[in-house]
This record gives sequence, structure tokens and C-alpha cells, in this order.
Amino acid sequence: MYLVPLYFVPGPFVLYFAMIKFPVPDDSCEYFDKEHETMTREQIETLQVERLRETVQRCMNNPIYKQRLEEAGVTPESINSVADIRRIPFTTKADLRDNYPFGLSCVPLRECVRLHSSSGTTGNPTVILHTQNDLDEWANQVARNLWMVGLRPDDVFQNSSGYGMFTGGLGFQYGAERLGMLTVPAAAGNSLRQIKFMKDFGTTALHAVPSYVTRLYEVMQEQGVDPRRDTKLKVLAIGAEPHSEEQRQRIQNMLGVKAYNSFGMSEMCGPGVGFECKEQNGLHFWEDYYIVEIVDPETLEPVPDGEIGELVLTSIKREAMPLLRYRTRDLTRVLGRTCPCGRNHVRIDRMKGRSDDMMVLRGVNIFPIQIEKILMNFKELASNYLITLTTDQENDNMTVEVELEELFTDDYGRLESLRKEVTRQLKDEILLTPIVKLVPKGTLPVSEGKAVRVVDKRTVYQ
Ligand code: ADP
Ligand code: ZN
Repeated sequence: MYLVPLYFVPGPFVLYFAMIKFPVPDDSCEYFDKEHETMTREQIETLQVERLRETVQRCMNNPIYKQRLEEAGVTPESINSVADIRRIPFTTKADLRDNYPFGLSCVPLRECVRLHSSSGTTGNPTVILHTQNDLDEWANQVARNLWMVGLRPDDVFQNSSGYGMFTGGLGFQYGAERLGMLTVPAAAGNSLRQIKFMKDFGTTALHAVPSYVTRLYEVMQEQGVDPRRDTKLKVLAIGAEPHSEEQRQRIQNMLGVKAYNSFGMSEMCGPGVGFECKEQNGLHFWEDYYIVEIVDPETLEPVPDGEIGELVLTSIKREAMPLLRYRTRDLTRVLGRTCPCGRNHVRIDRMKGRSDDMMVLRGVNIFPIQIEKILMNFKELASNYLITLTTDQENDNMTVEVELEELFTDDYGRLESLRKEVTRQLKDEILLTPIVKLVPKGTLPVSEGKAVRVVDKRTVYQ
């Protein structure tokens, strides 16, 4: 599709020919891949049926998928509409673990050029294989996103994700290069160096996990660096972990730039699966690459648009390891299927969290993001917080420790009334009363990657 024949580089005596596989559009174009980004709903669905058929065909190369598809009576020819996807069995993280490392691959290993893997803190890690085409398409997806929020080859892109097995590093790296930006692969951590790079190299766009942006800003403040005055930053890509709208607003106010939500998961490729456009009205999930379903996690039936359920994704353009109806465990909802930006790819709400993040305390279901949303509304509170669950005489308790923006520990009265107000608002939100502790800035642990927000120390009574 991108094969554009030739371009010429004049040399002293000869003309060099070069094949360029992925031309970057003209700077004035709003779209990186206009053809696919601006498809109508009808065109999207036609393409999805075609690519789903191809994917089912490809999955037949894998004995596990083959058996499952045959048992369900699914053949490529029997897929005639997107709704036919519901005849295909779900795939879960357990399937990836049980068939670790390469059991779900659909091509011979010699056709694969890279693998990524999750951290695997609980049991076998999950491994995802990529062919060269998979990597090329992944780079296109990321480039599309970055272009969508206004980045162009003149920009300087700094990536503060960990490189290596984590997809946030190489995923953004290749995408930013595909777009043609000067890239700064700073990798995770070392805030002083990050800030120096931003100043020295004229970084205009930064990718970071939201919890790390707030940490970076604190270090800027300690160093007397004003991001508006001392850097050229204009765009942030934030993602990889759940965060509230309140947290995003905070980040935007701190750095004085727009922060766009970026969703990805290694099973689907990595970053690039969904991204907000300039409207910031939900994440466009790219339906030329994925079929998106939201299902009731209990019944596994689809829920109506607007209702929260589990996100289920099918990758329809991957070669090495396409996943059919993959249960992500992320909870979210459909916001709409049109957008003033001209893209009709489904708009998905920011993640409420993963079903495994849900805390059940005294029969009440609580997500960390609900707590964050309240805390972020207090200007006296900084951005780092930690929720600890304990058991006391067979009762579950929740302690919320949150750092203070400014130290006024000598003003006990003021501190106490703030603590009471935070407790009251949290109780209104989560329907039980947590123990709130206001702690000095810099006392809670900071992670270089995804933030750890909950520590569960509860005793399990049988
Ligand atoms: P791991 O499972 O080790 O965290 P990934 O890096 O593949 O591996 O993480 C994917 C998960 O990260 C998603 O399933 C989702 O829970 C979370 N995630 C990624 N991007 C976002 C985002 N923008 N908002 C909320 N959660 C996100
Ligand atoms: Zn849009």
C-alpha cells in the first residue's frame, strides 16, 4: 500500500535509486495515513471483515487455534460480517502463559525478528513475537498517533520509557523515527539527565508514564527550571498506566502543554493501539488494525455503547502472533464512533483500571483511580499517593498516604482540617472511611516505570 516507486538522489556523476517504503506525508496534511484514518464506518467494517478472514486463515497454522476454531465451526469463509467475530472463542492471558513461550505463534520462528515479554511477576511471563512486517506496521501506528497530535519531522521527541523487553521504549522509538523526528532515546529514570536533555536538545515532545511526569516536574522545581521558559516542550504523550482526567489536567497545568492519552499493550504490539486526537475526547482505537469489543466480564455478552465492560481486542493485521478476541481485563466503554477530527475510528473512554486492580473492601468495589480523582482536586496535595490495605480484627482497612504539596506541618490545625476534608470526600466517593495520612513530599516510593499504587497486606480468612 505504501510502495511508492522511486526517488532520486543526484550524485556527482550518477543518479541513485532508492525504494522508500513509508513516505511521510506533507507537513500540512492533518493525517499520517489519510486513506485509513478517514475511512467511513462502512469502509472500516468492510476492511475488518476482510482482515478478520485473513487472520482466521493465518491462525489455522497454529494447532491450538486450529482446534478451537474447528470446534467452534469457524472457517475464514464463514466470516461475513464483523458480528461473526462472536462465534470465535476468546483468548486469555492464561492461554499465553500456558503456551509459553511460542505456543500461539502462527509463523515459523525463522520469520520472526523480535520478541517482547511482560515482566512475569506472577508465573510465566507472556511472550509476543513479531515479524518484520509486524514491526513496520507497529511503527506506522505510533507515527500515525504522533502525527495526529501535531508532531512533524521538525520536532524533537524524547522517550522516557524503559527500553528492552518493555514495549514503550522501542515502540515509541521506531514510531517517532518513522515520522521523521529527531529522537532522544533517553530511557527511564535519571530525572536530572532527562531535564538536561530536554533543555540541550530542544525537546518538543516527551513520552512518559503520568506518574513519572509529576516526578519530573518536582525535580524541575527543585532545580529552578521553569518548563514554559526553559524548554520548548509542546506535546506530551502519557499512558501505559491508568490515570484520572484530574491527573491529566494537573500534568497539563504543570508543564503548560497538552498531554495526550496513549493506550497500548504488548499483546497487541505495544503503544499505538489507541491514542487521543487533538479533541481529547477519548482514545481513537485503530479499527484497521483491531476489532474492538466491550463485553460484560461475567456473561461475556457485548454491552451497549456507553456502558462499562471489559475491553476485548482482536488484532487483524499481525502476522507472527495475532490474538483472537483477547480479553484484556481493562475496563472501559465506547464514547462514540465519529469525531470532529474527521476520524471515525471508535472513541474509547480512559481506562477505569484492570479488573485485577479492583479492590473489594467490606463488600464494596473500589478502583484506585476513584481515589486519585479526589486527591488531585486538592491543590495542597502533591501527585504521589499510596493505598495500603490491612486487616484489623477481621475487618479490612484502607490507608491512603498522600504527599503534601507544601510543608506546613507546624500548622497542625490547618493540616488536620485538610486531612478531615480529604477523608470526607473520599468517603463520599468510595462509601467507606479510609485512614488518611498526609506525608511530606518525597517520602513515598517513586517507580521509574508504572506506578505501584496499591499494597495489599490483608490476611485472608478462610
Ligand atoms: P503489563 O501487563 O506488564 O503491564 P503492558 O506494558 O503490555 O504490560 O501493559 C498493558 C496494560 O497497561 C494495559 O492492559 C492497561 O492495563 C495498561 N495501560 C496501557 N496504557 C494505558 C492507558 N493509557 N491508560 C490506562 N491503562 C493503560
Ligand atoms: Zn478525533
